[in-house]
Amino acid sequence: MSVLTISDLRKEFGDLVAVDDVNFAVDDGEFVSILGPSGSGKSTILRMIAGFETPTAGTIEIEGENVTAAPPFDREVNMVFQSLALFPHLTVAENIGYGLVESGVPEDERRERIAEMLEVVELSGYQDRNIDQLSGGEQQRVALARAIVNEPKIVLFDEPLASLDRKLRQHMQFELQRIQEETGITFLYVTHDQEVAMAVSDRMLVLNDGEMEQLDSVETIYDKPASKFVAQFIGDIN
Ligand code: ADP
Ligand code: MG
Repeated sequence: MSVLTISDLRKEFGDLVAVDDVNFAVDDGEFVSILGPSGSGKSTILRMIAGFETPTAGTIEIEGENVTAAPPFDREVNMVFQSLALFPHLTVAENIGYGLVESGVPEDERRERIAEMLEVVELSGYQDRNIDQLSGGEQQRVALARAIVNEPKIVLFDEPLASLDRKLRQHMQFELQRIQEETGITFLYVTHDQEVAMAVSDRMLVLNDGEMEQLDSVETIYDKPASKFVAQFIGDIN
């Protein structure tokens, strides 16, 4: 069953067509990477799925429900940004539990779910630390825990690891894959790192200038690229 169905999705900014009639569906529990040059519409697609941007045309369905016009908090979708947007003056536990407080989850259950999340992201014992005492990689783990603690249907990642050095970035990408498998939550992951995307994804979506070039398994994209652009872009491992 598709957790996400995107139909004829389009976004114009004035004369600019940022997203040009994009269609795709994602299965429940899939890890799909989104690749494409800068300006190809990756962030705009994620922002429309999250509800931060209104499509010019087209529909977004989550588990068969049309959410195209629904506010972000009604979508069971969370987003992780490169900036992470953690609260530096709050503790790890307070950061992870912030949304649970807002949605009225009782304290006992909150504490239990935070502890469970800390285990999943391998930060057990860190609950009382302040965010500014953590390394970059540890902060990534907190942001991830916060994005999955309320059991969303989909987590959207907009190049969350771009600020880390290459080694840590690759390590965190494999961690993301492990956590995705452990939680079964669908991940849509925008990255510039073709090489690691190939290693961790079920499928990859390649965008060019607002249009979808290909959505296929890693093997198919590699063996049978749908266009010269895909072949060149995928071959261009940096
Ligand atoms: P990517 O994430 O692939 O780099 P974006 O989705 O951010 O690409 O942007 C796609 C295109 O839309 C770019 O040409 C960008 O300049 C333009 N764009 C994005 N957001 C806005 C906006 N709020 N107003 C005007 N143009 C925008
Ligand atoms: Mg972007």
